Amino acid sequence: MSVINQASLSAIRYLLTDVDDTLTTDGQLLPETLTAIYHLHEAGVQVIPVTGACAGWCDHMVRAWPVSAVIGESGAFYKIYRSEKRLMHIGWYDDAELRRRQAEVIDVIKRELMPHYQDLRFAQDQVYRVADVALDIGQDREPLPQQQIRELLRLLTQCGVQARASSIHINAWRGDFGKFPMALRLLRNEFNLDDEQILNQVAFIGDSANDESMFAGLKYTFGVANIAQWLTDMRHHPAVLLEQPRGLGFVELADRLLEAR
Ligand SMILES: [Mg+2]
Repeated sequence: MSVINQASLSAIRYLLTDVDDTLTTDGQLLPETLTAIYHLHEAGVQVIPVTGACAGWCDHMVRAWPVSAVIGESGAFYKIYRSEKRLMHIGWYDDAELRRRQAEVIDVIKRELMPHYQDLRFAQDQVYRVADVALDIGQDREPLPQQQIRELLRLLTQCGVQARASSIHINAWRGDFGKFPMALRLLRNEFNLDDEQILNQVAFIGDSANDESMFAGLKYTFGVANIAQWLTDMRHHPAVLLEQPRGLGFVELADRLLEAR
């Protein structure tokens, strides 16, 4: 924690957070992690999940959790209540364009990847996705070897598809959106932050290579301890590595932020 001092921590008003294996622990939201989100919310730190999770999951999070907004499907959209009873779903492109691009990516995967990788399959939540495409690399199966994950990412990139690996999925999409571009759009358009406020008031916590754009773009970034296995595959690392893994790493950071206030 030494590289980010108390004064800097006390200025943070927005905590953007990955979900899978950052908030969750073995797929579950621990009571202490959910409590930490409540404590941050009550202290005036706005928590915003930024995730590869499907639209269905994001709909649940923004409705049921004490969060200020949710960015989903690797930055394809965000969801936010502009007032009570007015939940907005804002896409990077319009819905039809997102669907058109999603269908293209599904075709590429079926044509170019699946014939060579017989046991490759879409994530179970693919039917709840409105924009991106998720391949299961460890959610409901034995984890694929890292070498195979790297190969799949390379093949997708060669096919003109953006692809990032989280701890459970490869997320694949066509378009110029991503976690960080959508985070900027959300913070500017909905929270009216300028670039200096984004630099000084926003922190991010994540666990995987698909969080890399957030580590690259923001100043105050944190990695839960389980990020260690992915660091060699990443060019941009979090500024601070936490001691605890997964949801307990989130609690560790929440305690530091609350202490600093
Ligand atoms: Mg994750």
